[in-house]
Amino acid sequence: MSQTLNRSLAPLVVSVAPGSPAEAVGVLQGDEIVRVNGEVPRDIIEWQMATDEADVELDVLRGGLDLSMTVEKTEGASLGIEVSSAVFDRVRTCDNHCEFCFIYQLPKGMRRSLYLKDDDYRLSFLYGNFTTLTRFTEADLERVVTERLSPLHVSIHATNPDVRSQMLKNPRGAMSLRWLRALLDHDIAVKGQVVVCPGVNDGAILDDTLAGVLDQFPELESVAVVPLGISKFNGEDAMRFHTLAEAQAVVDTVNDWQDIFQATLGRRMVYAADEYYLMAQRPFPEAERYDGFAMHEDGIGMARTFEAEFNGTAAEVTGVQRGFFAAVDAPASPPNPAAYTGLRSPCSADVDPVSVDPVSDTRSTAITLRPRRTAPVGVLTGTLGAPVITPLIESLSRDDVRVIPVSNDFFGGNTGVTGLITGDDVSRVLRDQPEGHRYLLPDVCLSDEGRFLDGITIDELPRPVEVVATDGVALRAALEGTP
Ligand code: SF4
Repeated sequence: MSQTLNRSLAPLVVSVAPGSPAEAVGVLQGDEIVRVNGEVPRDIIEWQMATDEADVELDVLRGGLDLSMTVEKTEGASLGIEVSSAVFDRVRTCDNHCEFCFIYQLPKGMRRSLYLKDDDYRLSFLYGNFTTLTRFTEADLERVVTERLSPLHVSIHATNPDVRSQMLKNPRGAMSLRWLRALLDHDIAVKGQVVVCPGVNDGAILDDTLAGVLDQFPELESVAVVPLGISKFNGEDAMRFHTLAEAQAVVDTVNDWQDIFQATLGRRMVYAADEYYLMAQRPFPEAERYDGFAMHEDGIGMARTFEAEFNGTAAEVTGVQRGFFAAVDAPASPPNPAAYTGLRSPCSADVDPVSVDPVSDTRSTAITLRPRRTAPVGVLTGTLGAPVITPLIESLSRDDVRVIPVSNDFFGGNTGVTGLITGDDVSRVLRDQPEGHRYLLPDVCLSDEGRFLDGITIDELPRPVEVVATDGVALRAALEGTP
């Protein structure tokens, strides 16, 4: 458990925006906000609702002293306080033991928050984390419905109760989808996910699951079909890579069910992850078959949106959409121990610290002389990103730009997604690359604190890199040297 999760139940102030209402009444960094308007907020959702009011009473604990402060502001305006976590009571942890769980496949020694198995509907709402609902309760349902915590993200995996409970290794997995039914009955929007494990829930089981979705949960917004991730630390013999034929079968199944859903519900509903098309050696579906890219954040349609952004045919960047908080803070999973901001972000202090201009990245200029803008360019990406980006780069007919795939030796297995690239992997690759070239690194590799998953910062890399937003517009701009 992280320090964030063990500390007191009160929100801890990590920063106060200059000129904000909170600063005006004397709130300081390090204060603990014990009560807001007489109530103890359990999480950032309750915090936001309470602090949205025009007059906000704060009971503050500072160095053992109890203080009271009254903030008068416009209703809906931000207090200007950044607090230390999204959940002030304990994050509800997961009591499943899925064999495919990637957390069990992490090496020892990573930061502790990465080992947190959460199954908390609040993090599902806030960050788009998937919940299995095995710990969901009647009280949770009441809160979700009352506060309209929508959309939520639910792991389905299988609609057959026996298969689902076996996959979750939890008897409650058999019946917990009754909560999904209840959520849909109350018009809560839900996005579903099926993690496919070959030999476990593919083939006839996947067909049965999608039939179950159509029959029992037709109101679901969408269902993402994604392959399991396997690292070299996997200790479960039953968990393995898909064969080519198995990946192709999943793509075919999803295609067939898209037609059925389209004919029955008037929408495709189910989508296969981009990884499946790469594994199956099939072309990605045309952009219009993604129906607005609602599942972009789950790796559905990323290749097509990147292509459209790069080619200038997308109206706007399709960025991370996941969860209510995704626009202002923290990656989706696991919960980030860094500071959390309010639902609105009018204060300058709320600017996402990872958003780095692709051209004027001050972090790299601070450490070393930067290569000339006209220097040859290496575009760093994961092994799954390389086949997507390479044809785009080739379409430019520039011999000064090359794609540099970074294989993931840290995690091994089938971890080819760019977001899991570690600093160690990038260092290994860059050491063999010439000095004086520009190296573009997608920001998805870095945490809010500017660290790779293994804790390395870009300052520790053997070549200076330019951090570029992970979208086609930013990559194109970085290649063309335009801000
Ligand atoms: S529900 Fe998620 S966090 Fe829990 S064991 Fe399964 S994969 Fe891991």
